[in-house]
Amino acid sequence: MIPPDVLAALRDQRRPVCAYVYDLDVAHRTVDAVRAALPPGALLLYAVKANSHPGVVAALARHVDGLEVASGGELELAAGTGASTIVFGGPAKTDAELSAAVAAGALVHAESLLELRRLAAVAGGDRAGAGAGDRCVRVALRVNRAGVDLAGSHRMTGVPTQFGIDEAALGDAVALVRELPALRLVGFGLHAVSNNLDAVAHAAYVADALDWSVAAARRLGVPLEYVNVGGGLGLDYAGDKRFDLDALRAGLAGMRVPRGVTLAFEPGRFLVASAGWYAAEVLDLKRTHGRWFAVLRGGTHHFRLPAAWGYSHPAVVVPVEDWPYPFERPEVRDAHVDVVGELCTPRDVLARELRVDRLRVGDVLVFGNTGGYGWDISHRDFLRHPYPQIVLIGE
Ligand SMILES: *Cc1c(COP(=O)(O)O)cnc(C)c1O
Repeated sequence: MIPPDVLAALRDQRRPVCAYVYDLDVAHRTVDAVRAALPPGALLLYAVKANSHPGVVAALARHVDGLEVASGGELELAAGTGASTIVFGGPAKTDAELSAAVAAGALVHAESLLELRRLAAVAGGDRAGAGAGDRCVRVALRVNRAGVDLAGSHRMTGVPTQFGIDEAALGDAVALVRELPALRLVGFGLHAVSNNLDAVAHAAYVADALDWSVAAARRLGVPLEYVNVGGGLGLDYAGDKRFDLDALRAGLAGMRVPRGVTLAFEPGRFLVASAGWYAAEVLDLKRTHGRWFAVLRGGTHHFRLPAAWGYSHPAVVVPVEDWPYPFERPEVRDAHVDVVGELCTPRDVLARELRVDRLRVGDVLVFGNTGGYGWDISHRDFLRHPYPQIVLIGE
């Protein structure tokens, strides 16, 4: 269940074990599988926020067509990998970040009319004489479309959110770009959802997004070059549903991408989640009010997702034979245990009622599918415990 090279990497860790292992080969195989499902010529970008470990980003950058970034920090990291395509999104870009994006030659997903003005001001100022007037900064409008119905954990379009330009204001935005000679409008960014598990629905969403973009561009007189349908390919952490790439491929196969238009995808989670394992050693076992608790050297400050989403993350027991103490080693057999962390809050729970055949203090619990939105979204300094080791294998 846990790949031998991941187990080998864990065996080398100092005790008590607390580590993330990222297997770059798994990430590469996933990239290849996703790419095979996309129409020929499609651009496959990696959304850096899912896992921004520099080694992971550098490895991904070698296998995808470019990187999607959402902050100045991510932009700097992406530029450092030499990625040929960088797309910069996010609802609150500062002038300094916009300026860095212009300098890096990034394609900017503009999220408001004001941002378009600020981007043009920064681009004109930065490139006085050379850049101003030659429409050198490529920009796409991130649109919050009026009606998109796609299931997933975080809907960002078709509902009120801080993201993008309301579809009703699209005409004004296009007219504004025409008045800003530093900018060249190339198309639309339509990222709509996260963690969608329905590949058939996702393919239908992509086809609809393309049709909508072609129609909107025609209506508004935009020479369409670029349609970015975002990310959102999902993983079923607690169950056994699978985002079916064959179904995605079949659903996209009939789609006609007009000549001259680049269709871009920018998944984050799906490309890296399955490449990550979080491992934490059991420091104590106890029973209170009739329930067993396995207390880990680790917890939600390293892997926040189960607490944030309110589910139990599956884990596998890796037995460790070494027991250095002269006293008896605590263990439970054929039990259900709540798997909790080292924080002083009852919310520090990674899994409830995990079924174990045998679990001893000193064994290690390993949580798969933790390579995306794991360490990156966690409140790592709460209580100031040491960080997990981060181990890269593969490549
Ligand atoms: C977060 C994000 C993504 C990646 O989403 P996943 O659900 O990880 O695939 C892509 N595009 C934008 C604009 C994002 O904000």
